[in-house]
Amino acid sequence: MDEKDLIHYIRRITSPNLSETNIEIGPGDDAASVSVEGSPRIIISTDMLIEGTHFTSDSSPEKTGGKAVGRALSDLAAMAAKPLCSIVAICFPDGRSDEYKCALLRSIQEHAVKFGAPLAGGDTSSGTSNLVITVTVAGVPGPEGIVCRDGALPGDAVCVTGAVGGAGAGRHMSPVPLIEQSLELTQKYDIHAMIDISDGLSTDILHIAEESDVGVTLVARSLPLHPDAVRLAEGEGSGKRGAILHALNDGEDYELLFCLPENQARELISGGISGTAVSLIGTIKETKENSILWMDKTETELMDTGWHHLKNK
Ligand SMILES: [Mg+2]
Repeated sequence: MDEKDLIHYIRRITSPNLSETNIEIGPGDDAASVSVEGSPRIIISTDMLIEGTHFTSDSSPEKTGGKAVGRALSDLAAMAAKPLCSIVAICFPDGRSDEYKCALLRSIQEHAVKFGAPLAGGDTSSGTSNLVITVTVAGVPGPEGIVCRDGALPGDAVCVTGAVGGAGAGRHMSPVPLIEQSLELTQKYDIHAMIDISDGLSTDILHIAEESDVGVTLVARSLPLHPDAVRLAEGEGSGKRGAILHALNDGEDYELLFCLPENQARELISGGISGTAVSLIGTIKETKENSILWMDKTETELMDTGWHHLKNK
């Protein structure tokens, strides 16, 4: 089973009971939403970082801590939630130095405080495995409420913040959760659906299409290519098309990918949001077919080619 199969399975075993609980949004979005009558809704997400999978054993504790917190908070940004606090659980490999442990915890707290989610508790353990860090974050809806993956409408424009592709060359270790940008977006525009790019632009826009029961067409020449993607493609001799494939597939960009009415998207891309550029990269369609329009005007099926956890296992 790959990660998608597991998520389907988890949704299948949890959905029969959801209506009897305080869970408003259950498994399958960037974060869950829980509410108790008379209290604000709480938005919760958790993220696991594993040595050897998400960072190498020679990564500094400072970078590793920043990545653990940044990834978790990026999921709150994807929901347009405002962070409240973080809880961290760490399994240190036997023999890891006290100096390393303290530096990692300091980095986690520094990054958590920076984005308004100071550590509220957690658990530490040690064992024979690689270093594993799990960060759980909680927040409340921003002033305009939360945004899920399932609200994209036919005719919507697809937009993305910043630039994408090639994050594996290094910047995947320094994700910046776009909390401020997300809150400003929802205050100024009617954002129908949103996700943060973790698995890859292609995989993540297809999550929105599937959850919203619509199709999507992306325009290759409109994708904002990160210089890292261009550089990697040059090294491989794969040119512009190679850079586009990096933008579609690499993942760990932690940019916001969202859908909104096209007239609003036109206004948005002229000024960006909170100092961050925004690009209009595609359109949502009623027919559930997903495609990408290439520079030579050919149109091919948009494949789910981002990162897949548990693939072939
Ligand atoms: Mg996410």
